[in-house]
Amino acid sequence: MRRLDRETVDRIAAGEVVTRPARVVVELVENALDASAKRIEIEVDGDGTERIRVADDGDGMSARAAELAVERHTTSKLPDGDLTAVKALGFRGEALASIADVARLTLTTNDGGPKGTRVIVDDDEVTIESAGRGRGTTIEVRDLFHNRPARRESLATPATEFERISDRVAGFALLRPGVAFSLDHDDRRTVATPGTGDAVDAVLVLPERERLGVARESTTLDATTTVEIAGLETDVTVRGLLAYPSTTRASTGHVRLAVNGRPVSVPALRRAIERGYGSLLPGDRHPVAALAVSLPPWAVDPNVHPTKETVALRAADAVASVVEDAVADALSTADLRRAADVAMDLDAALDPVEGTASALGNATFVGRFRDLYLLCEADGDLLVIDQHAAHERINYERLREAVDSATVPSVTLDPPVTLSLSPADIAAVEAHTDELARLGFDPEPFGGDTVRLRAVPAPLGRVADPEALTSALAAIRDGSATDERDALLADLACHPSLKAGDELDDDEAAALIERLGTCDQPFACPHGRPTVLAIEEGHLARGFERHPNRR
Ligand code: ADP
Ligand code: MG
Repeated sequence: MRRLDRETVDRIAAGEVVTRPARVVVELVENALDASAKRIEIEVDGDGTERIRVADDGDGMSARAAELAVERHTTSKLPDGDLTAVKALGFRGEALASIADVARLTLTTNDGGPKGTRVIVDDDEVTIESAGRGRGTTIEVRDLFHNRPARRESLATPATEFERISDRVAGFALLRPGVAFSLDHDDRRTVATPGTGDAVDAVLVLPERERLGVARESTTLDATTTVEIAGLETDVTVRGLLAYPSTTRASTGHVRLAVNGRPVSVPALRRAIERGYGSLLPGDRHPVAALAVSLPPWAVDPNVHPTKETVALRAADAVASVVEDAVADALSTADLRRAADVAMDLDAALDPVEGTASALGNATFVGRFRDLYLLCEADGDLLVIDQHAAHERINYERLREAVDSATVPSVTLDPPVTLSLSPADIAAVEAHTDELARLGFDPEPFGGDTVRLRAVPAPLGRVADPEALTSALAAIRDGSATDERDALLADLACHPSLKAGDELDDDEAAALIERLGTCDQPFACPHGRPTVLAIEEGHLARGFERHPNRR
C-alpha cells in the first residue's frame, strides 16, 4: 500500500475533466473566448480522438505564458486568488494540463510580438520553439485517450461524438453571437456564424434553424432589470432569441441558456422561461429559445460542477422572475406580422398571427365561413379567426381575472347533482376542496365512488356543466403543469358548456373580435393553439398571378 504522489492524483483527475472529445472542444473554446477572440475556427477529424484543432484571433500568450499554460494549476485569470471575482470562463488552470495528460498537444501562440511560440507536449516531454503566427492561439490535440484505452472504449460512434461537439459549438455560437464560429468535420464545413452580434443571424446558419423555425418565427429580446440581490441593487440582463409559440417541442431540451457567457443548464431558469411563455404553450409542449443571462460575477458561483455545466445563483428566485418577466414581455409585445417573403403555397401563407393587441385593433369583420371562422380585414391582410379558439381565450382571461379578484362566482344546484367518479378523482376531491371552492365547485364525497355536487362555477353568467368537475380534477391531478390553476382555468374555458352558440350574428361577431383584441394575449387559445391566421394580400396577388402593385 502506498500513498499516490500528487502528480499521479492529478493524472487520475485529468480523466474526470476530459471525459470525451466534446469536453476538449468546450475547454478550448472557453479559453479562446476568455482571450477575447472574435473569430474561433474549430476542426474535428473523425470522432475527435484523431484530431481537434481550435484557432482563435484572441490576445495570445507570451513565450513564458505559453510555457506555463500547459502546467497544472497555472492560470492568468485569478489575479488575486479571489474566486468570487472571476469574470472568465476558466479559472481552475487545469484544462490544458489535463488535455496534455491524455493526448498529444501542440500550442502555437503569439501575443502580438514579432514572433510567436510553439509548445509541444508529448507524454512527459515538453518542447518549446519559436514559430510564425499572427496574434492569437492555435491548439491542436491529437490521439486523444491514446493512453486511456477504457475511455476510448466508452466513446459512442463517431457520428454521435461529433453530434455532441456540434451541439456544444451551436450553444456557444447562439449565446455569443458577437463571435464568428466555424466548425469543420473531416474537412467539411458544417457551420459558420457571421459574428454580427445578432442571435438571429447566428441561428440562421445553425442546425437550430429547423428547431427554431425561420427567424420571422422568433423574436429577440434585450432587457436589463435592476433587482436586489444580497441587499445590493443589481443589474440583470437577459438577451437572446425566443421562438414563437407556434414552434414547440415535446421535450424540455430545446432551451439554450448561458449565464455570464457560459452555456449551462440551470433548471430554475429553464422553468422561468417556460413560465414566461405561460399559456401560449400547450400544456404538454415546451418552448424553443436561446437566452443569455448576465449578472455580476459575485452573484454566480460557477464552481459547483466539475465540468461547469451548471452554476449556482445567489437569489435564484429573483433572477428567475426577471427572466420570466423578460420573456413574457418580449412575447406580448412582439409583432410577427412584419413582411416576410414566404413560399407561394397557401399552407405556408397561413401564418398564426402573434403580436400586440393593436394587430386586431383595426380589424373589420367582413364575413364568415361555415359558422366556424370569422373573416376580417386588417392592414391590408385577411385575418381568419377561429371562433371557438377566440372564445376560449376570452373566457379564459375573464375566468382568470375572476379568480384573481376573488372566487369564481358559482350557482347552487338544487337538488345537488350526483356524479360517479374514479377513486383517483374521489381522492382529489378530498385533497383539493379549497382549490375547487375557489373555482366555484362545491363537491361533497357521498360514499363509494359518488360525490354530490352542490354548486358549479358560473363565471360568465353561464353555468358550467357538472361534468366540468372531472376536467378540473384532471387538471389538478396532472398538476405537473406549471400553474395548476391556469391549466384548470384553461380546461374550464374550453368546456363546451362555456362556449357560445355556433351561430353569431354580425354584431356578435364584431363584438367577439373586439373583445379578443382586448385580451392580454389574443393570438393563442389557453391551450396554445392559434386563434388568428393571417393571409397577406401579397400571397393572394401572387396566387392569382397579379402584379402586386397593379390592381
Ligand atoms: P484556465 O482557463 O482555467 O485558466 P487552462 O488550462 O484552460 O486554465 O488555461 C491555462 C492558461 O493558458 C489560461 O489561464 C490562459 O492564460 C492561457 N490560455 C489558454 N488558452 C488560451 C488562448 N486560446 N488564448 C490565450 N491564452 C490562453
Ligand atoms: Mg480554460
